[in-house]
Amino acid sequence: MSTQLLEFNPTIEGTASAWMSRGACAQSDPNVFFPHDGVGVEIAKAICSDCRITGPCLEYALAHRIEHGVWGGCSERQRRRILRDRRAAARETGLVAVAA
Ligand code: SF4
Repeated sequence: MSTQLLEFNPTIEGTASAWMSRGACAQSDPNVFFPHDGVGVEIAKAICSDCRITGPCLEYALAHRIEHGVWGGCSERQRRRILRDRRAAARETGLVAVAA
């Protein structure tokens, strides 16, 4: 678990708008985070790379099953892969996956 997540957990702190103002994207056009091509995804991910709440943002998107856009530095495809991997790991261990 990242130290970011220990300090701040948006999955239990309410709405996205309440915590997203702390992110590197707060001053960016929101449309940047809903790109239509791979170049756009890389632009959004570059902004996320300078963000202090990347881990919590990603967990929020996973927990809320947000399918579209770049969240926590991950593309839609990357988040689907994370969820799939967590489900597989949970099946192997017999545990319930978080945000799976
Ligand atoms: S990780 Fe990216 S999308 Fe999430 S708050 Fe930070 S800059 Fe915004």
